[in-house]
Amino acid sequence: MEKFDVTVIGSGPGGYVAAIRCAQLGMKTALIEKYPSLGGTCLNVGCIPSKALLDSTEHYHKAVHQFADHGIEVKNVKVDLPKMIERKRGVVKATVAGIDYLMKKNKITVLAGHGSFVNKNTIEITKADGNKEQIESAKTIIATGSKPASLPGIEIDKKRIITSTEALELQEIPKHMIIIGGGVIGLELGSVYARLGAKVSVVEFMDSIIATMDRGLGKELQRLLKKDLGFEFYLKHKVTGVSAKAKEVTVSADNDKGEKVELKGDYCLVAVGRKTYTENLGLDKAGVKVDNRGRIETDEHLKTNVDNIYAIGDVIKGAMLAHKAEEEGVFVAETIAGQKPHINYNLIPGVVYTWPEVASVGFTEEQLKEQGKKYKVGSFPFKASGRARASMDTDGFVKVLADEATDEILGVHMIGPRCADMIAEGVVAMEYRASAEDIARMSHAHPTFTENMKEACLDATAKRPIHL
Ligand code: FAD
Ligand code: NAD
Repeated sequence: MEKFDVTVIGSGPGGYVAAIRCAQLGMKTALIEKYPSLGGTCLNVGCIPSKALLDSTEHYHKAVHQFADHGIEVKNVKVDLPKMIERKRGVVKATVAGIDYLMKKNKITVLAGHGSFVNKNTIEITKADGNKEQIESAKTIIATGSKPASLPGIEIDKKRIITSTEALELQEIPKHMIIIGGGVIGLELGSVYARLGAKVSVVEFMDSIIATMDRGLGKELQRLLKKDLGFEFYLKHKVTGVSAKAKEVTVSADNDKGEKVELKGDYCLVAVGRKTYTENLGLDKAGVKVDNRGRIETDEHLKTNVDNIYAIGDVIKGAMLAHKAEEEGVFVAETIAGQKPHINYNLIPGVVYTWPEVASVGFTEEQLKEQGKKYKVGSFPFKASGRARASMDTDGFVKVLADEATDEILGVHMIGPRCADMIAEGVVAMEYRASAEDIARMSHAHPTFTENMKEACLDATAKRPIHL
């Protein structure tokens, strides 16, 4: 039986990053993956393919709706959806090939097959052809991720009633896509198909979309998705059933007045969150405990109740985000190597890749109010930005929350062009505990969208923006 210092189960952004960091630190490392390609949800059916389709459809939408205003005449712009999907597959293929290369470069042993604990030090790998192999590992990192969740009584048929995985592979543009859940997946994939001409209706249980982010962002995004893409929103609606008959789907919901609402469309995307994935992992054989939501329990070192087994990413508590999983992968590798790493969970940014983009880091206004913290608000709209006017992206704003007494930045919330990239400045500022005045006094290249951050900080620190 081959022996390893560390074995990682699952090759998503948590697992493959953990494996690389372990190898960098000199450990003999194995990575087990049951799926035919490495990269997990993120690279195969998550972050990367969804962004590829978001980029393609944004080009199309701009060609149809904005080019004329730029003085560019294009006639008969057409969508070739199968080709768009094929390009997306190419992006995924190239990206997962990059992970194969990184495994070889770092001399990580990749074992293809389903990993399962025999005991706390032995793992069995069942290959696609049914053959089995066992390895011994001093330490194991569980990074088996998550799968789409559904609602009780709703059967996902993967044809008309679909999850994000199928929505990334459609071969026709839906006429009316009904989306259950106004969270990140619903709004990103809803944008993809609305830009291509589908009618999109979002049925959401809460009174706001992207309800966990700062409230101002959800309100503005809802307004813009309605204005730009014709989204229809059914907030405060609890879905009670979904059925499919031939090419028609029917979604039934109860609204907050207790009335029954019925929507008919040709596709229903169920996007109500994701559940941890630990099927046939043999957790009981290793003695690893899970909580009441099926998440693997870990301590502050991300160690499970079994002293040589760690867990990271979507399979444990916290935000289900690729970059959170990656940070945890590095954290555990360094912990095993005897280092003392740290993760500031409050400063893991959240991004929604709609257009405009939405991005957020730190505390929301709602959280600060709940804490009874006294804070100042500074904001700056993109309609006052020269760069935004040049690119016709004048919707949205940057909002900065700062401590009333010390001026320390406590939260940054933005909706607008390229906010997914711009939020990095908020993360850096908050990691270094900058004040709003610190950022306001730093030079920001002109003309860039980042000037909005500087102006919002000027507004937060002393209510003295220059360009408003
Ligand atoms: P995963 O990526 O889920 O990887 C787990 C891997 O473990 C899988 O490959 C699985 O096959 C394997 N596995 C499971 N059990 C076993 C076993 N017993 N043996 C062997 N292998 C096993 N996050 C972002 O930060 N940004 C985004 O833009 C973003 N977009 C997304 C879009 C969509 C449509 C979806 C669905 C998700 C998106 N996410 C995004 C979330 C992101 O994909 C996850 O948070 C991330 O992939 C979690 O990483 P992980 O390593 O914990 O698990
Ligand atoms: P989510 O938690 O973001 O949103 C699910 C939504 O469904 C919530 O708003 C919830 O209130 C609603 N809902 C639940 N039950 C309902 C019901 N019965 N009727 C109506 N609405 C109901 O989950 P998601 O959008 O499925 O995404 C899953 C995970 O993937 C998230 O944790 C997210 O972080 C991750 N993800 C991230 C990105 C990104 O970072 N850009 C993109 C896609 C996915």
